[in-house]
Amino acid sequence: MASRRALVAGNWKMNGLKGSKAEITALLKHWDKANPKPKCDILICPPALILERLKLAANGSRLKFGGQDCHANPSGAHTGDISAEMFKDAGAAFVIVGHSERRADHNESNDQVQAKAQAVHRAGLIAIICIGETQAERKAGNTIKIVNAQIKGSLPKGVTAKNTVIAYEPVWAIGTGLTPTVQDVEKVHSAIRKQLTKLMGGDEADKMRILYGGSVKPANAGELMAASDVDGALVGGASLKAKDFWGIIQAYT
Ligand code: PEP
Repeated sequence: MASRRALVAGNWKMNGLKGSKAEITALLKHWDKANPKPKCDILICPPALILERLKLAANGSRLKFGGQDCHANPSGAHTGDISAEMFKDAGAAFVIVGHSERRADHNESNDQVQAKAQAVHRAGLIAIICIGETQAERKAGNTIKIVNAQIKGSLPKGVTAKNTVIAYEPVWAIGTGLTPTVQDVEKVHSAIRKQLTKLMGGDEADKMRILYGGSVKPANAGELMAASDVDGALVGGASLKAKDFWGIIQAYT
Protein backbone atom coordinates (compact mmCIF):
# COMPACT_ATOMS: atom_id res chain seq x y z
CA MET A 1 0.00 0.00 0.00
CA ALA A 2 1.28 3.48 -0.84
CA SER A 3 1.82 5.76 2.11
CA ARG A 4 -0.68 8.54 1.68
CA ARG A 5 -0.25 11.82 3.52
CA ALA A 6 -3.52 12.60 5.27
CA LEU A 7 -5.42 15.81 4.58
CA VAL A 8 -7.79 17.50 7.02
CA ALA A 9 -9.80 20.10 5.10
CA GLY A 10 -12.24 22.66 6.49
CA ASN A 11 -15.12 23.82 4.30
CA TRP A 12 -16.42 27.05 5.79
CA LYS A 13 -19.27 27.25 3.26
CA MET A 14 -21.03 30.67 3.43
CA ASN A 15 -19.62 31.49 6.87
CA GLY A 16 -16.90 33.91 7.83
CA LEU A 17 -16.16 37.62 7.74
CA LYS A 18 -12.95 39.67 7.91
CA GLY A 19 -12.80 39.02 11.67
CA SER A 20 -12.53 35.28 11.05
CA LYS A 21 -8.81 35.69 10.75
CA ALA A 22 -8.85 35.32 14.56
CA GLU A 23 -9.71 31.63 14.01
CA ILE A 24 -6.73 31.26 11.69
CA THR A 25 -4.44 32.83 14.28
CA ALA A 26 -5.87 30.51 16.96
CA LEU A 27 -5.41 27.46 14.72
CA LEU A 28 -1.78 28.41 14.08
CA LYS A 29 -1.20 28.80 17.81
CA HIS A 30 -2.41 25.20 18.37
CA TRP A 31 -0.13 24.05 15.56
CA ASP A 32 2.91 25.95 16.87
CA LYS A 33 2.44 24.54 20.36
CA ALA A 34 1.80 20.94 19.25
CA ASN A 35 4.44 18.42 20.13
CA PRO A 36 4.47 16.11 18.27
CA LYS A 37 3.13 17.93 15.19
CA PRO A 38 0.17 16.33 13.42
CA LYS A 39 1.15 14.15 10.47
CA CYS A 40 -1.30 15.62 7.98
CA ASP A 41 -1.82 18.53 5.61
CA ILE A 42 -4.25 21.15 6.90
CA LEU A 43 -6.50 23.10 4.55
CA ILE A 44 -9.10 25.83 5.03
CA CYS A 45 -11.60 26.62 2.26
CA PRO A 46 -13.12 29.95 3.33
CA PRO A 47 -15.50 32.18 1.33
CA ALA A 48 -13.61 33.52 -1.70
CA LEU A 49 -13.86 37.13 -0.52
CA ILE A 50 -11.72 36.56 2.55
CA LEU A 51 -9.35 33.90 1.22
CA GLU A 52 -6.49 36.27 0.46
CA ARG A 53 -6.89 38.11 3.78
CA LEU A 54 -6.79 34.84 5.72
CA LYS A 55 -3.80 33.64 3.74
CA LEU A 56 -1.97 36.84 4.69
CA ALA A 57 -2.95 36.29 8.33
CA ALA A 58 -1.46 32.79 8.10
CA ASN A 59 1.80 34.57 7.40
CA GLY A 60 3.69 32.07 5.28
CA SER A 61 2.79 29.11 7.51
CA ARG A 62 2.18 25.63 6.08
CA LEU A 63 -1.58 26.12 6.40
CA LYS A 64 -3.12 25.67 2.94
CA PHE A 65 -6.12 27.48 1.47
CA GLY A 66 -8.69 26.52 -1.10
CA GLY A 67 -11.84 27.60 -2.93
CA GLN A 68 -15.27 26.00 -2.51
CA ASP A 69 -16.34 25.87 -6.16
CA CYS A 70 -15.24 27.39 -9.47
CA HIS A 71 -16.45 28.05 -12.99
CA ALA A 72 -15.15 25.79 -15.76
CA ASN A 73 -13.84 28.70 -17.85
CA PRO A 74 -10.74 30.75 -17.01
CA SER A 75 -12.51 34.11 -17.56
CA GLY A 76 -15.42 35.64 -19.46
CA ALA A 77 -19.03 36.77 -19.26
CA HIS A 78 -20.17 34.72 -16.25
CA THR A 79 -21.60 37.16 -13.75
CA GLY A 80 -20.93 36.22 -10.15
CA ASP A 81 -18.68 33.28 -10.94
CA ILE A 82 -15.06 32.73 -9.95
CA SER A 83 -12.49 30.86 -12.04
CA ALA A 84 -9.86 28.42 -10.83
CA GLU A 85 -7.22 30.85 -12.11
CA MET A 86 -8.66 33.55 -9.82
CA PHE A 87 -8.40 31.19 -6.86
CA LYS A 88 -4.81 30.50 -7.76
CA ASP A 89 -4.15 34.23 -8.00
CA ALA A 90 -5.61 34.70 -4.50
CA GLY A 91 -3.28 32.05 -3.04
CA ALA A 92 -5.38 28.87 -3.16
CA ALA A 93 -3.81 25.46 -3.63
CA PHE A 94 -7.06 23.45 -3.80
CA VAL A 95 -10.65 23.89 -5.02
CA ILE A 96 -13.60 21.77 -3.86
CA VAL A 97 -15.90 20.74 -6.73
CA GLY A 98 -19.12 18.75 -6.80
CA HIS A 99 -20.06 19.35 -3.16
CA SER A 100 -23.54 17.92 -2.59
CA GLU A 101 -24.84 21.42 -1.79
CA ARG A 102 -23.72 22.50 -5.30
CA ARG A 103 -25.15 19.33 -6.85
CA ALA A 104 -28.49 19.83 -5.04
CA ASP A 105 -28.89 23.63 -4.87
CA HIS A 106 -27.45 24.39 -8.33
CA ASN A 107 -28.40 21.18 -10.13
CA GLU A 108 -24.78 20.43 -10.95
CA SER A 109 -24.37 17.27 -13.01
CA ASN A 110 -21.40 14.92 -13.10
CA ASP A 111 -20.47 16.46 -16.49
CA GLN A 112 -20.31 19.94 -14.96
CA VAL A 113 -18.31 18.68 -11.99
CA GLN A 114 -15.91 17.00 -14.42
CA ALA A 115 -15.46 20.27 -16.37
CA LYS A 116 -14.82 22.16 -13.12
CA ALA A 117 -12.27 19.58 -11.95
CA GLN A 118 -10.55 19.92 -15.32
CA ALA A 119 -10.46 23.69 -14.82
CA VAL A 120 -8.86 23.24 -11.39
CA HIS A 121 -6.14 21.10 -13.01
CA ARG A 122 -5.71 23.63 -15.83
CA ALA A 123 -4.95 26.28 -13.20
CA GLY A 124 -2.37 23.99 -11.60
CA LEU A 125 -4.42 23.41 -8.43
CA ILE A 126 -5.68 20.27 -6.69
CA ALA A 127 -9.35 19.33 -7.12
CA ILE A 128 -11.28 17.87 -4.21
CA ILE A 129 -14.08 16.01 -5.97
CA CYS A 130 -17.05 15.27 -3.69
CA ILE A 131 -19.31 12.27 -4.10
CA GLY A 132 -21.91 10.61 -1.90
CA GLU A 133 -25.34 9.05 -1.80
CA THR A 134 -28.61 10.45 -0.46
CA GLN A 135 -30.59 8.80 2.34
CA ALA A 136 -33.05 7.33 -0.19
CA GLU A 137 -30.23 5.91 -2.31
CA ARG A 138 -28.67 4.31 0.76
CA LYS A 139 -32.00 2.85 1.89
CA ALA A 140 -32.48 1.37 -1.58
CA GLY A 141 -29.08 -0.35 -1.28
CA ASN A 142 -27.59 1.73 -4.10
CA THR A 143 -24.71 3.47 -2.30
CA ILE A 144 -21.86 1.75 -4.17
CA LYS A 145 -23.64 2.02 -7.52
CA ILE A 146 -24.18 5.77 -7.00
CA VAL A 147 -20.63 6.60 -5.86
CA ASN A 148 -19.13 4.51 -8.68
CA ALA A 149 -21.24 6.39 -11.24
CA GLN A 150 -20.28 9.74 -9.68
CA ILE A 151 -16.58 8.85 -9.84
CA LYS A 152 -16.81 7.67 -13.44
CA GLY A 153 -18.78 10.77 -14.46
CA SER A 154 -16.88 13.41 -12.45
CA LEU A 155 -13.21 12.51 -12.91
CA PRO A 156 -11.66 14.37 -15.84
CA LYS A 157 -8.99 13.13 -18.25
CA GLY A 158 -5.50 13.58 -16.84
CA VAL A 159 -6.58 12.87 -13.26
CA THR A 160 -3.73 11.76 -10.98
CA ALA A 161 -3.21 11.19 -7.28
CA LYS A 162 -1.27 14.47 -7.23
CA ASN A 163 -3.91 16.70 -8.80
CA THR A 164 -7.03 15.18 -7.24
CA VAL A 165 -8.47 14.16 -3.87
CA ILE A 166 -11.79 12.31 -3.50
CA ALA A 167 -14.15 13.27 -0.67
CA TYR A 168 -16.79 10.68 0.17
CA GLU A 169 -19.61 12.55 1.86
CA PRO A 170 -22.91 10.73 2.40
CA VAL A 171 -25.43 13.53 1.82
CA TRP A 172 -27.55 12.44 4.80
CA ALA A 173 -24.54 12.79 7.13
CA ILE A 174 -23.71 16.39 6.18
CA GLY A 175 -24.63 18.84 8.94
CA THR A 176 -27.00 16.34 10.59
CA GLY A 177 -24.88 14.89 13.38
CA LEU A 178 -25.43 11.44 11.81
CA THR A 179 -22.51 9.33 10.62
CA PRO A 180 -22.26 5.90 9.01
CA THR A 181 -20.64 3.18 11.09
CA VAL A 182 -16.89 2.77 10.70
CA GLN A 183 -17.58 -0.56 8.92
CA ASP A 184 -19.87 1.20 6.43
CA VAL A 185 -17.27 3.91 5.80
CA GLU A 186 -14.60 1.25 5.19
CA LYS A 187 -16.88 -0.62 2.81
CA VAL A 188 -17.55 2.47 0.69
CA HIS A 189 -13.94 3.73 0.74
CA SER A 190 -12.71 0.31 -0.35
CA ALA A 191 -15.25 0.28 -3.21
CA ILE A 192 -14.11 3.77 -4.22
CA ARG A 193 -10.50 2.63 -4.37
CA LYS A 194 -11.55 -0.36 -6.49
CA GLN A 195 -13.37 1.95 -8.91
CA LEU A 196 -10.32 4.26 -9.03
CA THR A 197 -8.15 1.23 -9.80
CA LYS A 198 -10.41 0.39 -12.73
CA LEU A 199 -10.20 3.93 -14.08
CA MET A 200 -6.58 4.92 -13.31
CA GLY A 201 -4.70 1.70 -12.67
CA GLY A 202 -3.65 0.27 -9.31
CA ASP A 203 -0.50 2.33 -8.70
CA GLU A 204 -2.21 5.68 -9.09
CA ALA A 205 -5.39 4.59 -7.28
CA ASP A 206 -3.29 3.38 -4.37
CA LYS A 207 -1.75 6.86 -4.00
CA MET A 208 -5.04 8.78 -4.24
CA ARG A 209 -6.32 10.32 -1.01
CA ILE A 210 -9.93 9.54 -0.13
CA LEU A 211 -11.39 11.78 2.58
CA TYR A 212 -14.48 11.07 4.65
CA GLY A 213 -16.89 13.96 5.24
CA GLY A 214 -20.19 14.25 7.12
CA SER A 215 -20.57 15.33 10.77
CA VAL A 216 -16.91 14.75 11.67
CA LYS A 217 -16.31 16.09 15.19
CA PRO A 218 -13.46 15.87 17.71
CA ALA A 219 -15.40 13.07 19.45
CA ASN A 220 -15.65 10.78 16.40
CA ALA A 221 -12.57 11.84 14.39
CA GLY A 222 -10.27 9.28 16.02
CA GLU A 223 -12.27 6.22 14.98
CA LEU A 224 -13.27 7.58 11.56
CA MET A 225 -9.73 8.63 10.64
CA ALA A 226 -8.35 5.26 11.79
CA ALA A 227 -10.66 3.41 9.38
CA SER A 228 -8.93 1.65 6.49
CA ASP A 229 -8.77 3.60 3.24
CA VAL A 230 -9.69 6.86 5.03
CA ASP A 231 -6.97 9.43 4.32
CA GLY A 232 -8.37 12.44 6.12
CA ALA A 233 -11.56 14.44 6.51
CA LEU A 234 -13.60 17.13 4.83
CA VAL A 235 -15.17 19.05 7.70
CA GLY A 236 -17.99 21.59 7.57
CA GLY A 237 -19.47 22.91 10.83
CA ALA A 238 -16.66 21.78 13.10
CA SER A 239 -14.04 23.59 11.00
CA LEU A 240 -15.42 27.03 11.88
CA LYS A 241 -13.92 27.12 15.36
CA ALA A 242 -10.18 26.57 15.65
CA LYS A 243 -10.61 24.59 18.88
CA ASP A 244 -12.99 22.03 17.29
CA PHE A 245 -11.01 21.81 14.06
CA TRP A 246 -7.82 21.27 16.03
CA GLY A 247 -9.61 18.52 18.00
CA ILE A 248 -10.19 16.72 14.69
CA ILE A 249 -6.64 17.30 13.44
CA GLN A 250 -5.40 15.64 16.63
CA ALA A 251 -6.52 12.30 15.17
CA TYR A 252 -3.19 12.54 13.30
CA THR A 253 -0.87 13.27 16.24
C1 PEP B 1 -19.42 19.35 4.36
O1 PEP B 1 -20.24 20.20 4.10
O2 PEP B 1 -18.55 19.07 3.53
C2 PEP B 1 -19.52 18.69 5.66
C3 PEP B 1 -18.90 17.55 5.81
O3 PEP B 1 -20.27 19.30 6.63
P1 PEP B 1 -20.41 18.86 8.19
O4 PEP B 1 -19.04 18.51 8.67
O5 PEP B 1 -20.98 20.06 8.86
O6 PEP B 1 -21.31 17.68 8.20
